[in-house]
Amino acid sequence: MLLEKVKKYLKAIERNNKKGKKINAILQVNPRVLEEARELERKKGKKGKLYGKIIAVKSNINIKGLNASCASKTLENYKCPYNATIIKKIKEEDGLIIGMANMDEFACGSSGETSAFGPTRNPLALDRIPGGSSSGSAAAVAAGFCDLALGSETGGSIRNPASHCGVVGVKPTYGLVSRYGLIDLSMSLDQIGPITKNVEDALLLLNVIKGKDEKDPTTYESKDIKFEKLGKIKIGLPDVKADEKIKELIEEKVKEISKKNNWQIMEIELPHIDLAVQTYYPLVYVEFFSATRRFDGRRFGKKIEDVCGEEVLRRILGGFEISKAEYKGKYYRKALQAKKVIKKEIEKAFEKVDCIIMPTVPKLPHKIGEKIDVEDMYNYDALTIPANLAEVPSISVPAGDIKGIPVGVQILTPRFKEGKMFSLARKFENA
Ligand code: GLN
Repeated sequence: MLLEKVKKYLKAIERNNKKGKKINAILQVNPRVLEEARELERKKGKKGKLYGKIIAVKSNINIKGLNASCASKTLENYKCPYNATIIKKIKEEDGLIIGMANMDEFACGSSGETSAFGPTRNPLALDRIPGGSSSGSAAAVAAGFCDLALGSETGGSIRNPASHCGVVGVKPTYGLVSRYGLIDLSMSLDQIGPITKNVEDALLLLNVIKGKDEKDPTTYESKDIKFEKLGKIKIGLPDVKADEKIKELIEEKVKEISKKNNWQIMEIELPHIDLAVQTYYPLVYVEFFSATRRFDGRRFGKKIEDVCGEEVLRRILGGFEISKAEYKGKYYRKALQAKKVIKKEIEKAFEKVDCIIMPTVPKLPHKIGEKIDVEDMYNYDALTIPANLAEVPSISVPAGDIKGIPVGVQILTPRFKEGKMFSLARKFENA
């Protein structure tokens, strides 16, 4: 049965994935996938928690023998020598990896268009972007190329494409999931998380990949995450900048569900949330610049500056400039201070409410190839970045559509309150 399912997905990939007019969500199919499926079918004893699940993985996560190219010419020929901790865990639970997913180059982007191997198309609106940077992961789930996918996010790269593609995306609490084996964008912010068709699958995958890892000192011990009984919930609704239609859609959804469940809606203020984007980029530029110094062409890959795209180069040059000794860390430190302020504001809001709800992305995805300026591109993440800065979990679930284009709603809860977050998300899913 597993084998049949894999074959069905492979057929779908063959038919609908091709670069150009097609979706281009998968960069590399696992050449051993049929063999591995047979091995799993033959395996004796109790089946693992992920048995029967077929998974696509973002191309910045190491899987032994596959190509974690980061969708960059830099690592075009890089064959991973080891498994990331989360991949080990997935294999231990009998999950089957179907292939490596397209993404923005080195996770720098919000549209999927910065990939060196061509943009990914949105399966629900083929002329539009799927969002990014985990563009291929979200599109693969939405297009029916796999059951589950792994993405990573620094400022929204899981939730943003999940929202545009009409699927579920989870950014866990900072420290819940090991990043050992993730090719990082910005180590102080990066987290790996699931992208799935429904909330239950996201919970399943997160429970498998989470947990303390000696190889990643930022990780914590944690109990199994479970759906909880929700009592009287107080929802915090901040007034945010977003397209009117998106705001209306989300507010109506929140009102409808709150009424049905007898929850209370409270308007809350997050005065510095508008500074999230400006706070985020200096941190990312500096940390990314530092992370890219190993791609000097001597040990592996090509020298990054020689082959990378415009957005990656912008960040390397920007990061180099900000890191110069003469600034004595002035900009980076300022950004860290601003991060603290935003984090405190969100923590303070959680003293009064159980969760914060807002649109995942403030605008609809643009048409592929449409020229949009850097600032507009960065603003796609204006509402997702706050959760990364505050280190809290957030989930995006489909909330409806505007003229056929999916719109997601995100739910933020305090650190390690994933159980509540998933339970709330399920109410939205079932509404
Ligand atoms: N779009 C944001 C950026 O370009 C977020 C990327 C991410 O979360 N990996 O940095």
